[in-house]
Amino acid sequence: MEVYADFAATTPMDKEIMEKMFANADEFGNPSSIHKIGKRAKAQLEHSRREIAGLLNAYPSEITFTSGATEANNLAIRGVVSNYDHPHIITTAIEHASVLNTYESLEDVADVTYIPATEKGVIDKEAFKAALREDTALVSIMLVNNETGVMQPIYEIGEILAGHNALLHVDAVQAFGHMGVDVKDFGADLLTLSGHKIYGPKGVGVLYRKNDVILNPMITGGSQEKDRRSGTENNLFIYAMAEAMKKADDERTMRSIKEMQLKEKFLNTLTHAEIPFEVNGDVNQAATHIINIHFPWTEAEFLLTALDMADIYVSSGSACSAGTVEPSHVLESMYGEDARVKKSIRFSFSHLMEEEEIDAIVNALKEIYERLFIES
Ligand code: PMP
Repeated sequence: MEVYADFAATTPMDKEIMEKMFANADEFGNPSSIHKIGKRAKAQLEHSRREIAGLLNAYPSEITFTSGATEANNLAIRGVVSNYDHPHIITTAIEHASVLNTYESLEDVADVTYIPATEKGVIDKEAFKAALREDTALVSIMLVNNETGVMQPIYEIGEILAGHNALLHVDAVQAFGHMGVDVKDFGADLLTLSGHKIYGPKGVGVLYRKNDVILNPMITGGSQEKDRRSGTENNLFIYAMAEAMKKADDERTMRSIKEMQLKEKFLNTLTHAEIPFEVNGDVNQAATHIINIHFPWTEAEFLLTALDMADIYVSSGSACSAGTVEPSHVLESMYGEDARVKKSIRFSFSHLMEEEEIDAIVNALKEIYERLFIES
């Protein structure tokens, strides 16, 4: 049996959404064309925009479509930073590479403070308060960490920033479909989402931008998306993303309960099998679908390969750096130089999984553990 437990890296496309998408594929027009075929495409595009805005409690004019969350995060950050002369920015040491590497590339033109995480996987609020300056222009904090699943205190950050001029940018890629995402509740000025984490297509993403936020475009050209992101819109994938978001929102409770049951079963079965492990981060503050586990008895690189040979597909850290197994910057922020950084694996679950798949993962781990134990 092949077991895929890497749903935080990407999800398969929902079959029903795929069928709806292909049924719509004849609507091939360019939304910028002024003839009827173009106008029909434009109507569909704007319908998707309205639906997505509604789900986020935003206005349609606040939604910009992109090629994914990497581009959406780049646009949010670069689009704002370019409005200022050497601004002060606060972000965290546990952001996704699309945020972290973007800020690292901007260090010549901005003063960036990186807030570390505590051992619970939550950013250090006191460090945040201490870092906040009167002239801080932008704060980028993710909602759910993609490696540990730990939810960050966005509501509290939003409250701290309520009387402040700094804009709040929230990467909500791993949160949507697992918890409520309401831009007004968070006080978010910018928020990003990705289609392929919610059973939609790869290569499509959303940037929410509060109406009064001035954003310089990164991609210039035909002035699509109100000049914020040029290029003919990928109407078909945008349609599928809107459908995926609606379904994720409708099924949120069912999906979360199932994911939670799978996670609990996983932890109980691991304990029962007497495989030494520790959870990284605070399991009680984590989104339902992700868990990061430290196996003190072996290196992650070896374990990933051994699990792969047993047809169990998981990852260490984010998939974007998983081609090469490098120590996780998230775990490094939480634990420093500790050996557990190199001995940890991320499992991410889905409502589509069966309980037997959890048994298969634990059986494989048990076999690997015993093999090592007996051999050494
Ligand atoms: N942010 C987070 C938290 C993510 O998990 C990911 C995907 N790994 C991204 C951003 C980038 O999304 P995309 O693949 O759509 O570029």
